This record gives sequence, structure tokens and C-alpha cells, in this order.
Amino acid sequence: MTSARARASRLARTGQSKESACDVFGLRRTTSALLLAVAATGCTTIVIDADHTRTEQRQTAIATPTAGPSPSSASASPTEKSPSDVPPDAAVSDASTTDVAREAGPAAPTATVSVSPVALTNSVMLISVDGLAARFVDAEITAGSAPTFARLQREGSWTLNARCEARISVTLPNHTSMITGRPAVTVPDLPAETNHGYLENFDPGDSTTLHNRGNPNLAYVTSIFDEVHDRGGFTALYAGKSKFLLFRRSYAAPASRVDLLGPDDGRNKIDSFDVLEDTSALVSEFMEAVETGVGAHPDGPNFTMLHIRDTDSAGHAYGWGTDPYIQALELADYLIGGVLDAIATSEPLRNTVVIVTTDHGGIDLGHYNTALHEVVDIPFFVWGKGIPRGRDLYSVSQGRKDPKDEIPMDAIANQPIRNGDAGNLALSLMGLPAIEGSLHQGLSLEVEAPGADDAGTGE
Ligand SMILES: [Zn+2]
Repeated sequence: MTSARARASRLARTGQSKESACDVFGLRRTTSALLLAVAATGCTTIVIDADHTRTEQRQTAIATPTAGPSPSSASASPTEKSPSDVPPDAAVSDASTTDVAREAGPAAPTATVSVSPVALTNSVMLISVDGLAARFVDAEITAGSAPTFARLQREGSWTLNARCEARISVTLPNHTSMITGRPAVTVPDLPAETNHGYLENFDPGDSTTLHNRGNPNLAYVTSIFDEVHDRGGFTALYAGKSKFLLFRRSYAAPASRVDLLGPDDGRNKIDSFDVLEDTSALVSEFMEAVETGVGAHPDGPNFTMLHIRDTDSAGHAYGWGTDPYIQALELADYLIGGVLDAIATSEPLRNTVVIVTTDHGGIDLGHYNTALHEVVDIPFFVWGKGIPRGRDLYSVSQGRKDPKDEIPMDAIANQPIRNGDAGNLALSLMGLPAIEGSLHQGLSLEVEAPGADDAGTGE
């Protein structure tokens, strides 16, 4: 389905956008040098009690203008059902230690390989392809019909044997885990403040936020958007479903916290946001915003997130693995290919590391049974400068274990790589500590140290 001509035309347009962004910000040849200024910091623990939070929220925020969703594009049409069978108190594995400690420090100065957290990059992009079941990615790669996913395997570190969050496999709870590093559901034997607790798969609107409708034991659910924005970086979230308005509302005034780190960057933690159901238009808008935003923040940190809806929509309408589903998968492959090409040729974005994963898989017309491999087995790709090329992600990771054919429970020892690892992995690759209050810590990646020879991101 890929049209080489259309692709070339689109990339030509992207190139024009790149040039203008470079010229405007005068950033040519500066990014790699400034990369080194992204300093690793020690662990930061921030405790906010309920009263403190309320007090802070009454203080005036510095309102940074953000791009809001256009009313015409953000239709409220939730199509998924909330899970009704989440077993919050199911048995856990026999592991007795929590998986929260980082065991490895940076490599020796002369080494070319470091273990994250390390200031590898000033920019991490998370792409979530909704409902992207691992088995169909595998089949499409094998068939030669997914050139971008094949490229991500060839040029990056990857696994098709990651897992979604334990006990739940739906869009909003699992994406909330990605951005907060928290499991969705209560984890037995861990404190009641551990999980984010947002288990519904729709946005009720009004004043609903992750903070007032999630785990009642949490006054504030800190996200990667807080961590990056409060350090003066650029953040973006572009999504294909209007339910993601929940995230924007949760991380903007008056719901969001004040800036607790360094200079006050205001309370709109997501600098650029939009919802568009037309994924091609969404990706174009997203890339334009990212290039401008990252270009304006060359010393980072920068975290940008793209949600592609079509695989999930086709799965619900026609079934996972049907022709429409496969076409949606190939569309995602094509669009992500354009993103990688743009990154590889963009001065502001050339050091960007891309994580590609999903919220869940699916079978038949849904994705609610977490006992099924078809539902919980997901891909997880990491690609970009400094990321080992062509490697099994488990073989270059520390702190996670390939689950083989098992479906491990909960976020304790011997965990697989999960989609809920995405946020903290992003911070780790920028040399930053984990999200405040998160459980999914300790996933470290072997990377080429900053200053090492260019690993290259081109084909
Ligand atoms: Zn769905």
C-alpha cells in the first residue's frame, strides 16, 4: 500500500519544514554539543500531601498558552467498554523483593557502552500504536509487509515478547501506566498508594482527572510530563482518541501541580496537545510541533508522545487480524517510517530516541481477557542514536526478564518488559530519575555512551 511517490512528496514537505525550523532557531550543528549538557541528576523524591496540593493549586499558575484540540476534530465517541472483570486481589508470584532498585551505574569513562540512566539524548519520542498485537507484527515482518517494523528490528533493540500491564488491557489505564510508571490495579503486598487506579476506559469530561478519579489514596499522580516540563523541557501529546483529553486536563491548571523543580515553568505540563482521528494529519501535525518544540529546547529534556488509533478501531469493527486490521497495521508502519526518516534527516531531532509499543493486543473483536497471550503479548522497540542495533531488547536490558511463554503478574521481581516501563525508560535515556511515586523502575538499557562514534540512525 505504500506509494513511493506519495512518500517522497511528503518527505520533501517535511524537509522544507525542517529547514525553516532550523533557520528560525539557528540551531544547526548545535544539538549534539548541547546534548552533553543534559546532566544526569540524582534521585529526587517529592512528597505532596493532600493539603499541600490543595494549597498549591489555589496559587496562580503561569498560564503557558498551549494548542488545544479543535472542537471539530475532538469528537467524543468512546467505543470501548470498561473492563468489568478486573481481579484486584488475584494471587501474585512467589517473588519477595520489589523491582525498584537500579543496580548498575555508568560504565567507566573510557568505555563506549554505558548503562542507563545516562544522558544519551535530549529527546525521547514514545509512539503507541493502539491494539498492536505482537503476533501480527511478527507475521507482517515475516511477510515483508512491514518495512518500518523490520527497520526498527534491524536498527534498534526490540522484543515481540513484552507484556501489557498486569490485570488490565485497555487503552486509558494502560496509557496512564506508560506516563506515570504505576501499575493500574492494586498490587497485593504493596502500599495502597502504588497504583494509579484509573480503571475506566473513557473520559467522563467536566473536571474529571487522574487525580480525583483514580486511586483515592493519591492526591496527585505525577507523570513524565511533570518531570520533563518542570525541568524546563518540551512535552507533547498527540492522540487519535478524544479520551486522551483526560490527560491534558489532568496535567494543566487547575488540576496540575505547581512546578517543583528549578525555575517555574508553569502548570501546563503538556506544551502541545491535539486529538485528531485522521492519523495521517495527526502525524504531520505532531512532527511539525515536535521539530519546533525540540528545536527550541536543544538542551532538553524533551518528551513527545504520539498515539495511533487505527489498529484498535479496525480490530473492534472487523476483528483482530482481519484485512482491515492488517491494513491499519501497515498504515501505522508507513507513518512511523516517515517519522524515522524525518528524525534521521532533522538537525533538531537527530538524537531523538524512539520507543514504539502499544497499550494491548487483541483477539476477535476485543482485548479484555488478560489471561490470553493474544491480548497481553505486545511489541516494544527502542531505536535511535546510541541504541544497540539489531539486538533482542532483553539481551541489552537489565532489571527485566524474558517471560518466555508465561504471563507474569504485577510489578514485582522477575518482571517482563511492560508498556508501563515506557515513561521511565524515556527518562532513563535522558539521564533523569524515575517519575515520582512510580513502581516501574529499574529497567536499564545498555547504550553507546554520549561522545562515542555516531551509531547512525539512517538505513
Ligand atoms: Zn480497544
